[in-house]
Order: sequence, then structure tokens, then C-alpha cells
Amino acid sequence: MKNNICPKCNSNKVIPKVRILDHDYGINKNLSVQMKNSNHKYFYSTTESQVVAYICGDCGFMETYVTDYKDLWDIYKKKGYKL
Ligand SMILES: [Zn+2]
Repeated sequence: MKNNICPKCNSNKVIPKVRILDHDYGINKNLSVQMKNSNHKYFYSTTESQVVAYICGDCGFMETYVTDYKDLWDIYKKKGYKL
């Protein structure tokens, strides 16, 4: 969908980077993913990245993407990410 062509209906009516809301105690936030920056059990910082949607204006198909995927990949490679 980042090429502005819907993979389901081949339409070029793609709406890019639509905000996806996450509700937290009545407050609207951006939906995001989060990774620990180290494997320490208790003491660690985190990196978050927003999740955005690309939506087809002809059929409603939606794909989601993480905005800071390169940063998350760097953490994964350098720190050996574990849950
Ligand atoms: Zn479509």
C-alpha cells in the first residue's frame, strides 16, 4: 500500500498514514508498539513507535505499518531482544 496501489482491488485511492487511536483511561493516544532496549529483568528503558494505517478508498482494505521500524530493528539486532 505504500506504493499507493491497493493489493486487493488495484485502486490508487489510498489514504496514507492514518492515525490509529488507542484509548487509555479516557485519553486518546496513538497506537504504538514498544520494545525493551536491554534484556535486564527490571532496569531497562523502552523505545516506542507509532502504528499508522493505509486505507483503500475503494474497498476499505487496510494495512498497518510501524513508523520507526529502523530504530526497532537496530535494537533487535544490537540487544538480542527477548520478551
Ligand atoms: Zn482496495
